[in-house]
Amino acid sequence: MNATDRLTELFMRFPGIGPKQARRFVYFLLREHSHYKEQLIKALEELKFTGKQCDMCFRFFGDKSQNNKKLLCDICDSESRDVSVFMIVEKELDVDAVEKTGSYDGLYFILGGLVPPLTEKPSELIRIRELTGRIHKALEEEKLIEVIFALPVTDYGDTTKEYVEKTIKQIVGIEKVTLSNLARGLSSGLELEYVDRDTFKSALEHRG
Ligand SMILES: [Zn+2]
Repeated sequence: MNATDRLTELFMRFPGIGPKQARRFVYFLLREHSHYKEQLIKALEELKFTGKQCDMCFRFFGDKSQNNKKLLCDICDSESRDVSVFMIVEKELDVDAVEKTGSYDGLYFILGGLVPPLTEKPSELIRIRELTGRIHKALEEEKLIEVIFALPVTDYGDTTKEYVEKTIKQIVGIEKVTLSNLARGLSSGLELEYVDRDTFKSALEHRG
């Protein structure tokens, strides 16, 4: 297989990219200056060694250090964040979107997916074991006060929330932790990925 076909196949593995779009990327690269291609190759080369996953929130991040100590992303590792609250989101992009609003200073937990209605084994679809582990640990250290749900306002989002809420309530005395939700109704389908600063700020302030 030649390089263009191989690249097309590799691009097709990107989320949401079909064969036509993949081919378009390849043609774009063929036209582009070698300087751009060198930058791309260099960035990919670096990613090969630095793509790590945070032990606390499960976000992927770039880390050049070679040590094997507990891996924490810059958010979980920061001393200026409020460790008494964490926000449960579906995916990495949600974290990026919330961070961009600059109106939240707590921590995060990325579920890594959503649970469709009537699923028999929801624990296999999201990081529920990791989440309960994290809650246990935070309670032991007397850190956790509030868990904020920031899941999509859809059937999947609601099913996921119900399942996670039920599981949390089973493991912790509910008086110890406040479970809250971002306010809805500002826009009927609040999708974190596309939320603007004011909408998010208002949804956070009016959570309940
Ligand atoms: Zn993290």
